[in-house]
Amino acid sequence: MRLLARNRTAALAPAPEVGAIGVRAEDVGYAIAGRNLVDGVSLTVRHGEIVAVLGPNGAGKSTLLGLLTGDLTPHHGSVRIADRALSDYSQRELALRRGVLPQSVTLSFPFTVDEVVRMGRAPHAGLPSEESEDTIVARALAETDVAHLADRAYPSLSGGERARVSLARVLAQGAPVLFLDEPTAALDLKHTEDVLRLARDRARRGDAVVIVLHDLNLAAAYADRIALLAQGRLVACGPPEQVCTAPVLSELYGHPVEVLRRPGTDELLILPSRRGGPTA
Ligand code: ADP
Ligand code: MG
Repeated sequence: MRLLARNRTAALAPAPEVGAIGVRAEDVGYAIAGRNLVDGVSLTVRHGEIVAVLGPNGAGKSTLLGLLTGDLTPHHGSVRIADRALSDYSQRELALRRGVLPQSVTLSFPFTVDEVVRMGRAPHAGLPSEESEDTIVARALAETDVAHLADRAYPSLSGGERARVSLARVLAQGAPVLFLDEPTAALDLKHTEDVLRLARDRARRGDAVVIVLHDLNLAAAYADRIALLAQGRLVACGPPEQVCTAPVLSELYGHPVEVLRRPGTDELLILPSRRGGPTA
């Protein structure tokens, strides 16, 4: 296995190796008021790969992410990050191990963009680092195309700008396991591709990336594996080619889906069927 060249700064654990387990959930369940929001899900995400989690609204994607990150405690089963139970981590150790971009970030105090991104560095306070804090923050701002907003107040930003600043904060945190919940929901086409390329880049450098998406085409283009969730259960998990079939997706979304190839390539094109629609 290839050891990561990147400096991890934190002395708490050795740098993860590509192929090592980033996060492993075993038979996790979570219920509210007798309803199973997540039910018997087992999933392993390794360093060096992107796993995209998809499924209809309310399928339990954000709840599953909460269980994987330690924000929620499973009622059943267990979750380990870097082969250590989540309950064995201090908050700071966890923040050095895994970064979380929640589905919505509420910050009403008028912190500047620069301050918000610097908050991502808090877990590293007092730890040795090869790079200066300024360098790390500047890189995260540049990678997410928000450097020009550095002095702006966060609450004054547009939804898409906020989303990119929140991502910059998570990137600056530098944790080797990343959880991103619909990071592209508010983004335009270019910034959507940028974010997925960034995720791809982080995985190439050895991070384990779990990303909740709605866009099947994005998931098929960028993820190594796709996990499909329905009513809290994992209905399929595997490489896009294997998972993205018309019958599986049509059943999952309750709407007919066509799976084609981009002309001249083997790239998957996944489209809702519109036969019978206004243009038919
Ligand atoms: P997804 O992210 O796939 O859209 P969520 O994980 O957010 O779905 O939610 C799964 C289901 O659980 C939804 O039906 C949602 O309404 C419900 N749910 C989530 N959190 C709570 C809660 N705190 N109390 C009651 N129901 C909840
Ligand atoms: Mg959600």
